[in-house]
Amino acid sequence: MKSKTLVLKFGGTSVGSIERIKVVSKIILSHKSKNTKIAVVSSAMSGVTNELIKKSKSISNNFDSAEYDALLSTGEQVACALIAGNLKALGHNSRSWLSWQLPIMTEGQHSNSRISNIKTTELKKFMNKGGIPIITGFQGINTNFRLTTIGRSGSDASAIMLAKFLNADECIIYTDIDGVYTTDPRNNKKAKKIKKIFYDEMLEMSSLGSKVMQPTSVQDAKLNKIDITVKSSFIRKKGTLITGSKKSFSDQIITGISSTKDDAKITIVGVKDKPGVAAAIFKPLSDNSINVDMVVQNISLNKKETDITFTIKAEDLRKTEKLIKKNKKIQFKKISFDKNLSKVSIIGVGMITTPGITYRMFKALAKKKINIMVISTSEIKISVLISNKDIKKAVACLHTEFNLD
Ligand code: ADP
Ligand code: ASP
Ligand code: MG
Repeated sequence: MKSKTLVLKFGGTSVGSIERIKVVSKIILSHKSKNTKIAVVSSAMSGVTNELIKKSKSISNNFDSAEYDALLSTGEQVACALIAGNLKALGHNSRSWLSWQLPIMTEGQHSNSRISNIKTTELKKFMNKGGIPIITGFQGINTNFRLTTIGRSGSDASAIMLAKFLNADECIIYTDIDGVYTTDPRNNKKAKKIKKIFYDEMLEMSSLGSKVMQPTSVQDAKLNKIDITVKSSFIRKKGTLITGSKKSFSDQIITGISSTKDDAKITIVGVKDKPGVAAAIFKPLSDNSINVDMVVQNISLNKKETDITFTIKAEDLRKTEKLIKKNKKIQFKKISFDKNLSKVSIIGVGMITTPGITYRMFKALAKKKINIMVISTSEIKISVLISNKDIKKAVACLHTEFNLD
């Protein structure tokens, strides 16, 4: 019988205490058989990464980026050593592997790197002898041999990339919920578990605020055609399959609803309506790594001037305001800022072939007297910007409107 390679990933809550480390060890062992090779990726114990970030901030808001990564990557080291140590105490062959020991190579800036390669020679040797390697998620090294991290929630991407480089047959993401739901169950009691979801839908859902999977990891899975199962490490239940395969999908038009909090909107009134102005507005923002999300430009009535509205994260509002006000390349009449906004999105591949979805969404929101400020669409999603105070109401009415309750 052909042997099977399995990658298991455990998130922060799953390894959040010694009790949890013991439960996770049992889950790992439950997958073990003569024909199954297992590699494990772990996050830091819940809360640890946040504590480390706080410590760096208590030294400086401009804490050195290389030291920031060296600091943050310690969280995963602790969790992995505890899991491997526990498996050894139970009489099994296991050991922890830190990113530099493999190594896991990354590219890009500190704290926002991307995994480019994982050397698996030693892992494979160990697994061939029945060993269970426990590998630190979220981190790697760069070509200068400095430790790097790959963005918050990055252990998801570590697991997917490990599955790619091990040529694994399966990748299971163990978390604190038993799958991907139609919307975050913490915000809507009527949320339902999704059996199967396409990569593209999951990618939109996670990019638009559904925290359950990190967006980069879904992108990596799609590129490398790796099926992901999202499962709970707390209760034994069937999870959700994230896949590209079209086999046995339901004919649901809308698959899920996501929401973000703390968006901000900026409107620049009376800018010159000529080529190059939009680029001049956004260049300093791009140079300062400020992520611009929705953008709307009004049709200018006098053909000389126009208004530009765009959204960013509220935490970037002050910096953005300063950058626009000191930008000598643009002239405008007025600028206004609005925070405490939220983006609510409906997502589903069924939208491509079904007309009337936009109308149904707007009608449902209007019925609840929810004001829409900005709209953006793609082939498989419609997003609207609304006030933070309306999020729950908006998600609930859309959940009902699109038969997801
Ligand atoms: P982990 O620590 O295992 O990486 P996360 O906190 O990153 O776990 O992700 C799990 C959480 O994602 C859940 O507790 C849930 O509240 C949240 N979540 C947000 N949107 C969704 C959704 N659509 N389906 C499932 N969970 C979601
Ligand atoms: N520990 C890291 C974080 O909290 C990475 C992860 O959990 O995936 O963001
Ligand atoms: Mg996560």
